[in-house]
Amino acid sequence: MLVFKGDKLLVRDGVFEFDKFDKPARVARDSRDLPSAWQDIEPWCEVEEEAGNAENAPAQEWVDLRALWQRWGDEAFARAGTAYQYMNWLRHARFCSSCGAPLSPKEEDKGLLCGACGRVTYAPLHPAIIVAVERDGKLLLAHNTRMPAKRYSVLAGFVEPGESLERTIDREIMEEVGIEVRDVRYFGSQSWPFPCSLMLGFTARWKRGELRPDGVELDDAGWFPPDGFPEIPPGLSISRKLIDDFARRMKGD
Ligand SMILES: [Zn+2]
Repeated sequence: MLVFKGDKLLVRDGVFEFDKFDKPARVARDSRDLPSAWQDIEPWCEVEEEAGNAENAPAQEWVDLRALWQRWGDEAFARAGTAYQYMNWLRHARFCSSCGAPLSPKEEDKGLLCGACGRVTYAPLHPAIIVAVERDGKLLLAHNTRMPAKRYSVLAGFVEPGESLERTIDREIMEEVGIEVRDVRYFGSQSWPFPCSLMLGFTARWKRGELRPDGVELDDAGWFPPDGFPEIPPGLSISRKLIDDFARRMKGD
């Protein structure tokens, strides 16, 4: 069982999953109370206050999903990330957005049903594209104003209603740096539970235009050779995988 408090997971003695968990006084939600259709998610509960008896508790800490990812890897991140997305959704989707009546979990599938008007809602998922654009052996890396001061990464943006992924890629790249691309190829995807995204990764080649960062989301952008990269995202993210893939291809292995 996974134990969440806010956006963090309980870790005791270096372990974040427990065969059984003694319910503390105030558990806001326990996935084992949900109907059977929901039970294929990793069991989890959400506590509102410090779990367990602080005096007798073994070494415990609360870690966020990113830290869990770094310490326990992709598999653990996927399981905890799935539970987190359902937990976070149930935390925020308590009332019908149509009529305001309380929602309750469906028996047949993982939906929430409004008993008053019959409206059904499902966990939200926001697709986003992430693209590694290359030009003459160099990779387009940009600094997003929300990222740490020196860190650069590939471009990303959310898919908007009515768009194909190809359209999103063209629009985002034009909006953010003012260039056109060609030869768009699918690279891979990654669940991104911060809080409910799916990252769809692509590679592309420069077609025309000169870099012109939008000044709002991006304050700098440039073409970088593999041996001249600025600080890039750590380890496991799809942005880093795209960057590493480019570097590997340029080195010819
Ligand atoms: Zn309703």
